[in-house]
Amino acid sequence: MSSLDQYSLCPCGNGKKIKFCKCNEHLAEMQAIQRMIAGEQNVAALDRINADLKTMPSEPWLLAMKCELLLHLGEFESLEETSAKFIRLQPDNPLAKLHRSLVAIVRGNTEEGASLLLQSIADSGETLHPMTATVAMNLIEFLGQRGMILPALLHTENLLDLGESFQQVAMSAYQQILSDGQTSTLLRDSIPSPVDVGDAPYAERLAEAQSLVDATRISGAKTKLEAMIREFGPQPAILQSLLPCQLLLTDVESATSTCRKLAQSPALPENQRVYYQALAYELAPQPSGIALKDDLVVYTVEDPDFESKLAACKSVQPLPVEQLREMLQMLLQEEVPPKVAYVCAEPILHEQFSEMEPLRVGTWVAFYGKQTDKPARLVVLEPNAGFQKDQIDHLKEELGLASLKRELVEQLYMPFLGRTTSPIMIRKEIPEGRQAALTDAIKNVNIDGVLDIKLECLADHSMRQAAGLAEYRVPLQAILLAWQARNPNGYSDADFDELHKRLQVSEPKLSAELDVFDLVGGAAYYWTDLATIDAQSLIQLMQSSLTRGVSSMHPRLIERAQSMQWPEDLKESAEYTLYNLRVRTATDPNEAEKLLVRIIETGKKLNLSVGRAIVERFELLQMLGRQAEARIFMESSLRENPSDPTLLRYIQALMQQSEMMSRGRGGMGAQGPAGSISDGGSGGAGNQGGIWTPDSGDGPSSDSSGGSKLWIPD
Ligand SMILES: [Zn+2]
Repeated sequence: MSSLDQYSLCPCGNGKKIKFCKCNEHLAEMQAIQRMIAGEQNVAALDRINADLKTMPSEPWLLAMKCELLLHLGEFESLEETSAKFIRLQPDNPLAKLHRSLVAIVRGNTEEGASLLLQSIADSGETLHPMTATVAMNLIEFLGQRGMILPALLHTENLLDLGESFQQVAMSAYQQILSDGQTSTLLRDSIPSPVDVGDAPYAERLAEAQSLVDATRISGAKTKLEAMIREFGPQPAILQSLLPCQLLLTDVESATSTCRKLAQSPALPENQRVYYQALAYELAPQPSGIALKDDLVVYTVEDPDFESKLAACKSVQPLPVEQLREMLQMLLQEEVPPKVAYVCAEPILHEQFSEMEPLRVGTWVAFYGKQTDKPARLVVLEPNAGFQKDQIDHLKEELGLASLKRELVEQLYMPFLGRTTSPIMIRKEIPEGRQAALTDAIKNVNIDGVLDIKLECLADHSMRQAAGLAEYRVPLQAILLAWQARNPNGYSDADFDELHKRLQVSEPKLSAELDVFDLVGGAAYYWTDLATIDAQSLIQLMQSSLTRGVSSMHPRLIERAQSMQWPEDLKESAEYTLYNLRVRTATDPNEAEKLLVRIIETGKKLNLSVGRAIVERFELLQMLGRQAEARIFMESSLRENPSDPTLLRYIQALMQQSEMMSRGRGGMGAQGPAGSISDGGSGGAGNQGGIWTPDSGDGPSSDSSGGSKLWIPD
């Protein structure tokens, strides 16, 4: 906040300049407080505000300044109290709503937080308070932490639309969400627009609801749309308009139910129905019938030899107890880590790959020794399906657990799609040239297991049992879409084609002449017909697939790009994009290194930032043992690209890291600094202060430690 005068925006937050606000008579006092804050005399300023509030208890500018100061000082208890008073006295004040929204977000009530934020934006009209960005970024950060990625994306898009002053901060959040290849592609792309309703009897009211949405009156629009559904039934266009409202209000449960209604709507083409069904699976696996139930169980152990019996079991492998500590603390409120922990593990593929001794890893068990107030216990997460169930059943028998006292602590629901990749432990080095065969064999074992798991959404049939049955066509296609959209490692589009065949369902194909993204959102990556695609659409699809890490499509896009007759004006960018796709799919580091050289060359010709490619080549050269070459390459790259932001961030992180090492606080080990290949650009030195500020660089969720943070401007 700079100094205040007659023409400053009034601190009370009603959007007027001080000169025209009724707070005008207090300008001198405002300035006095403002000067103290500017001089970092925060506590003195707070005292003065409190003294003023004794004589003027309901002055909005005082309450607003106090809220801002408390936020700055991180005093949330007081902020909660003062913001409650502020909004009680000024229920229509957009700034009061912002403070109240922030408190709700910090307390984990995202529905109230989002609703107040959206109201504040709607009420403010053209002049948005800068605090709007603070609140929105905190909401986005919180939603991201709780896995509510699609609501976070829609809020980010909303923020991007709010004008230039918000763009920079919104853009960093947007990039962060888009590039997170670990999250389903379906949750990282906008949802389709409503279908055209022509002259339907509800067309006019639908247009009115849409104009409420355009004015950010989301709660109002939602009420109107819900009333229309009661009157006209579950019309797709009404449901499609309702869906973004529910998502913006972070009501994921209702959004999931809307998706399921859309999936059942006979008025929609099958491809859209499949898309909405898959979206429901990802938004809320359990109510959508695609979650597996695991039992968290505690066995009371009396036998003093139990610990050594457990250690002698052939079907488990030791696990460092620290790996379970945080989870057990969350699940059982256990402060101390267990005495010992194991994972179930069984040899697989021993006929073909015995020399590598691959083990398939399932669930874990944790043993607590006798404590003064508690007997010895074995804590077990018992899955009820798949090979994990067979493994734990076997272990239970081996240890005679059936005769022990068993207490069910909790039933945990795990997304089925999380089970589509099972960890494999390899204890021996994989011989040259056997890697691909092993990966393939593991994939087939996984697929076989997954196809046999019974699912509620298939009326307790497994996917294999549901194959060929008409009533399961849409759910089966949706499961395959959701599976592929998770970008599982090592799976290509050809694998999913094969799965469609095995399950006797077809995969939708949509002509690139249509606006495929507006029809089926993120499913467009998988369903756009590459056979008939034009050059312009292909290059866009290639670029978006790269940004979003849509890995299963990379081989197919490469193949198509190589056979495309590129027009002159697209040739260079097509070449550049193609090299980038190829480097993502390369398994041989020497080949990847050569491709990176080409990327840097073509990128320069196109005037693109090549910092990331430089960093990757530098790290690859080091990995290949070509240290001297790596150093010379980095030095010359820095000379040629002195202001490349990625490169500068990397060097800065490198320097911090070596400084930390020299202070003996190493421990980052083999992990590269920010921007390295392995972590896709996140991570690095986290902001330990617990507060996000605009100049801390990246947007929300760039911090991998995931602690709860508050994003405040300085
Ligand atoms: Zn005022």
